[in-house]
Amino acid sequence: MSNSTRDSLNESLCESLQAIRSQLPVSVRLIAVTKTVPADIVRIAYAAGIRDFGENRIQEAATKQAELHDLPGITWHLIGHLQTNKAKKALELFQWIHSVDNLKLAQRLNQLAGELNFNPNICLQVKILPDPNKSGWSIPQLFDDLPVLNHCKNLQFQGLMTIPPFGLTQSQILDVFNRTHELAAEIKSQGWSNIQMQQLSMGMSGDYQLAIEAGATMVRLGTILFGERLKSVTSNH
Ligand SMILES: *Cc1c(COP(=O)(O)O)cnc(C)c1O
Repeated sequence: MSNSTRDSLNESLCESLQAIRSQLPVSVRLIAVTKTVPADIVRIAYAAGIRDFGENRIQEAATKQAELHDLPGITWHLIGHLQTNKAKKALELFQWIHSVDNLKLAQRLNQLAGELNFNPNICLQVKILPDPNKSGWSIPQLFDDLPVLNHCKNLQFQGLMTIPPFGLTQSQILDVFNRTHELAAEIKSQGWSNIQMQQLSMGMSGDYQLAIEAGATMVRLGTILFGERLKSVTSNH
């Protein structure tokens, strides 16, 4: 990358970061989603003060983290679907896993976390509406599984994560976020000893304002910070 390209990227990224930060309540954690974004650009975001980065693929994250190992104080968030056979690698790379979407995966992570002597932060991914394109707990299934999840003592359950189905209206999206908030409140009221419900990871570039209106505590923003991703590499949706 030439110096002039870097300078102009640097400027536009700093501008979009400032504009977005000024809209976010201070209590909302901004996670910069850097999937498909090269390490030099991640460095620019780091220089602009970002410390939370989200990735959705294990291999890409491993490569990028190695390229950025000299930057202290980064918290890495896994936001994409995790296959059970990659759970160990995920624990080595990420402090947060937002996309824990089934009991078997949670139990495997719990076992590995015990072996690695590391207590990852976990969000339970829920589907408020049926969505064949996404993984996640249905509400009834989640209530069934809570007693077993509560026994996964090596995991720090922090809250819920959700992604609304594609193609909803604004008011339907807001409804999904509000229902996620209510679900967290209901789980909290059950008083589980090992399941915290303080965090709501919801909101992407197209809907983060609605998510904040509904009480999001973490927003995951990619496009609005870094520009459009190439279609060929985002076909996981
Ligand atoms: C890609 C992705 C994001 C960021 O999406 P943008 O629309 O680019 O902001 C957020 N969350 C998840 C789970 C993603 O896969």
